[in-house]
Amino acid sequence: MPGFEFWGDEERKEVNDVLETGILMRYGFDGPRKGIWKAIELEKAVCNTFGSKYAQLTSSGTAALTTAMVALNIGAGDEVIMPTFTFVASFEAVLSIGAIPVLVDVDETLTLDPEAVKAAITPRTKCIMPVHMCGSMADLDALKAICDENDLILLEDACQSIGGTYKGKKLGTIGHAGTFSFDFVKTITCGEGGVVMTDSEDVYTKCDGYTDHGHDHKGADRGADLHPFIGYNFRISELHAAVGLAQIKKLDTFLSIQKKNQTLLKEILSEVPGITFRKVPDPQGDSCSFLSWFLPTAEITEAVVEEMKTQGILAGNFYWFKNNWHYISKWDHLKNAETLQGVTHDVHMALKEYATKSFPASDAVMSRCVSTAISLLWTEEQIKDKGEKIVNTIKKVMEREGVPA
Ligand SMILES: *Cc1c(COP(=O)(O)O)cnc(C)c1O
Repeated sequence: MPGFEFWGDEERKEVNDVLETGILMRYGFDGPRKGIWKAIELEKAVCNTFGSKYAQLTSSGTAALTTAMVALNIGAGDEVIMPTFTFVASFEAVLSIGAIPVLVDVDETLTLDPEAVKAAITPRTKCIMPVHMCGSMADLDALKAICDENDLILLEDACQSIGGTYKGKKLGTIGHAGTFSFDFVKTITCGEGGVVMTDSEDVYTKCDGYTDHGHDHKGADRGADLHPFIGYNFRISELHAAVGLAQIKKLDTFLSIQKKNQTLLKEILSEVPGITFRKVPDPQGDSCSFLSWFLPTAEITEAVVEEMKTQGILAGNFYWFKNNWHYISKWDHLKNAETLQGVTHDVHMALKEYATKSFPASDAVMSRCVSTAISLLWTEEQIKDKGEKIVNTIKKVMEREGVPA
């Protein structure tokens, strides 16, 4: 999965260009920067690589989501439909703009279940935010149809699926806007960073201003800029953009290695009767940063995870169901509305509902799911060794539990 595994001379060279001039900021200082504009270059590279008309870099993926939502005119009191399985950043961004996160079930795609989405729509729904978790995509045709029918915004959180595609289009460029994260563990890293992609000039212009204190960037210099609306500082620095510029050039290499490694691991795990794999709406488009697999029951899955822990082979394998960061069962701070800044009564009431709400359909999927992160550095031998160890563990547990394997 992570581009940090391929840190090298290319990244050092791009960062050194910036260190030579000492101009670490993406705006202004036209003379002393001597033509070095890493953030602008990376934005162009994002547009070319992913096929979006516009790209706005941000300081993080979380900031990218926040920025995208306000630029899409989503705000206080609006409901944003999102999945029960995602990284906490998705609801953090929704809450940061005063909107209400509406959590709905995931299915075996590990992303939004379109039927559950339909059932969650209210007059206050403004946006559907699928999260393309663990390298692969939501059922975008179905979600798009729901958005069209109900006049809703489609915002893709593609932070975990850089380079994945759906029916030939890059994930993150299919909705009204889409975001990537370039944090340290993502497919491409800047150290910290993110991007909003959109084909709408209006959305882009708002992103451009919002991420830089509302500057319209039309003045002769920063001091002469006007401020048509209030913004914040979600700027990326030139140093971070420089790292990303080196990384984006390696994306095709990352993706081909991920595909090769995931394919081999999947072949090995397929040997286990009873194992099934994540449903991928467009299998050609899987970025292959993870291999997600299911076992027949929650009990077996939990026992296998325990056994993998005992044998010291759990590293790089994620049982999200019991993980503190990614699944609703452990989001007590959200369910108890533990915010420092306080929230409106509406938001508070909406969050408190989750304290007693259960999600049996999501539980049935997530309690049987393990995701194996695909390393770029694995040798074929290592994959075979890892695969066989997992296979033997599963077989051992199934035998013990009396399941034919
Ligand atoms: C990483 C991630 C984010 C946020 O990115 P940061 O750059 O860490 O702020 C948002 N959504 C998902 C699904 C992510 O995995």
